[in-house]
Amino acid sequence: MEKHNLYFRVLESFDSKNCPFCYFVESAIEKYFNDILYEGVNDFGFIKKFRETRGFCNFHSYKLLSYKNAISIASLYIYLFKDILSDFENLNKRKNNFKKNNCQACNFIDYTEKMYISTFVNFINEKEVEEKFLKSNGFCVPHFINILESLGKKVPEWFIDFQYKKFENIFFDLKRYLDSKNVSLKEKVPKLTYEEELIYQKALKILSGYQGKK
Ligand SMILES: [Zn+2]
Ligand SMILES: [Zn+2]
Repeated sequence: MEKHNLYFRVLESFDSKNCPFCYFVESAIEKYFNDILYEGVNDFGFIKKFRETRGFCNFHSYKLLSYKNAISIASLYIYLFKDILSDFENLNKRKNNFKKNNCQACNFIDYTEKMYISTFVNFINEKEVEEKFLKSNGFCVPHFINILESLGKKVPEWFIDFQYKKFENIFFDLKRYLDSKNVSLKEKVPKLTYEEELIYQKALKILSGYQGKK
């Protein structure tokens, strides 16, 4: 199978300090929002779709807001309110007024995730993929499940063993953290580093994936 740009981007994602798949999707989302804020306001194709879908879903609307780009947001929302006002004019025409359609940002994420999964699954038997992946931080639980589902019965043993070890480490680190708060252990209370103190955050993120993961 021919190796394209996406293959190398997937390989590159294994260098991330977090789940490589989360890193890949999050970087794509950041780029997507930056493009919208800087070019979307002049992109009539984007605006047309944005009006059809009545903006983004609740989660991605607040994400847009988080960039605090007042002029871009105002320039986009003026269209949405124009459309809301014209829905009032059509109230008696049995039209589907005030309807919201699928969020473009959600669709973009679905597409990005599918691309990553198909690339990873297609090339999983390449030695280079195995070697680099085994040096990564492993997938979060939701992405591990996504990949497993796509692999079907062709799951390499090294992949399962590696992911098991990663999740087992979280379990042990949580236990160690709780032991460190247990005064009854007296001198056996482990001394933790700052990073080890933050295991609760890591555990939550690994179980849920990036913020907004479906
Ligand atoms: Zn992930
Ligand atoms: Zn969305």
